[in-house]
Amino acid sequence: MTRVVIVGAGQAGSSAALKLRALGFSGDIILIGDEPIAPYQRPPLSKAYLLGKTTAEALLIRPVSLYRDQSIDLRPGCRVDRILPHARRIETSTGSLDYDHLVLATGARPLQLDASIGGALGNVFLLRSLEDVDRIRPAFVAGRRLLVVGGGYVGLEVAAVAAQAGLQVTLVEMADRILKRVACAETAAYFRALHARQGVRILEGTAVQRLEGSGPITWAHLSDREDLATDLVVVGIGVKPDISLASGTGLDIDNGIKVDQFGRTSVEGIWGVGDCASFPHYGERIRLESVPHAIEQAETVAANICGAQKVYVAKPWFWSDQFHVKLQIAGLNTRYDRVVVRQDSRPDVASHWYFGGERLLAVDAMNDARSYMVAKRMIEAGISPDPEAVRDPTTDLGSLLKSLAVVAVPNY
Ligand SMILES: Cc1cc2nc3c(=O)[nH]c(=O)nc-3n(C[C@H](O)[C@H](O)[C@H](O)COP(=O)(O)OP(=O)(O)OC[C@H]3O[C@@H](n4cnc5c(N)ncnc54)[C@H](O)[C@@H]3O)c2cc1C
Repeated sequence: MTRVVIVGAGQAGSSAALKLRALGFSGDIILIGDEPIAPYQRPPLSKAYLLGKTTAEALLIRPVSLYRDQSIDLRPGCRVDRILPHARRIETSTGSLDYDHLVLATGARPLQLDASIGGALGNVFLLRSLEDVDRIRPAFVAGRRLLVVGGGYVGLEVAAVAAQAGLQVTLVEMADRILKRVACAETAAYFRALHARQGVRILEGTAVQRLEGSGPITWAHLSDREDLATDLVVVGIGVKPDISLASGTGLDIDNGIKVDQFGRTSVEGIWGVGDCASFPHYGERIRLESVPHAIEQAETVAANICGAQKVYVAKPWFWSDQFHVKLQIAGLNTRYDRVVVRQDSRPDVASHWYFGGERLLAVDAMNDARSYMVAKRMIEAGISPDPEAVRDPTTDLGSLLKSLAVVAVPNY
């Protein structure tokens, strides 16, 4: 009987396993993860779960019983240490296993502050896993002084939740502005103003030079020469793809495990999906860190294991929740040369449209589901609207979409 072994029981790993069964795959499916629980959703970790508004149980992607019902052999708390590709065998913390297909869904690991500058002090936290948040929550007490390091989406979400929970929050970002790697200056300005109104202090162009404390952190020394009395630190300075298993096997690596348009790695019988893998995308090689991508790429690989020969074409979208604002992002904003701001008359409702030349590439929509939906459809269909029509808040976007219903090549 054909056996598929999946390493990494996260969003991508569980999606691959469930899709294999949905497609009628009747062989063995073994889903191995080194975390102690069944696959769960990470996005609420820096949102509702950190705020204490949802339970660990509610984070599970599917109930544990479903894996049993689908004859998926889920093995939490098990680590895969080595791959022997010639023998098509893996070695795990609980013994070795043979495979016909091996799917690597090992995700990403958070970057840490170096121990030499105090990164290993008590009350200095990373935020990637449920265990991480369970460690943070007891320290998340109203009135305490929190330093968030990193002004990307995770850092900003933590800052928002902390401010809502009554902590005194300072966020430092080493680059000259928040969201530098992922969004335009206009989106950064929107979120900077939102946080300032809610009492979060944001220091841009400011790095942590040293954290100090005997045991837990007490002071943070910043590059702007400020010394900040601090009770806890959450570090959100990005992630790196988890390639430890793959690189030890000799798989090609290029900003993650290198896979082709079908999800195949450079080694026969081994596939790569989700945060850990980079893939070809309209002439470039990219890596995405998002739930929709993890699901869709994993489902494509499941189909290909079943013999479909399906090409994976990413349709990037993402979201972030901060205070009362839902940000929805569609498309990829690399290589833009202009941003068109569509400002609604309602407070905090706006959308930022990224153009490269005449082409619509991406949108950031804040509390503006209509702009998001219309822009997403345009991007996926390869339609580029007149920027001035988009900018005009009286333009009906639905009618604009209909009038431009010309199908061209996608815009990514
Ligand atoms: C705090 C936070 C907030 C986020 N918010 C959003 C959001 O709002 N929207 C969005 O789209 N995305 C968000 N993301 C990103 C999203 O969660 C990830 O892109 C997604 O989880 C990737 O899924 P994955 O399966 O590739 O990796 P993961 O979910 O990281 O799963 C990989 C699993 O593999 C395990 N593993 C690694 N090596 C081994 C090994 N050798 N043996 C066994 N197991 C192993 C890991 O421990 C992990 O459990 C967020 C992420 C975080 C951390």
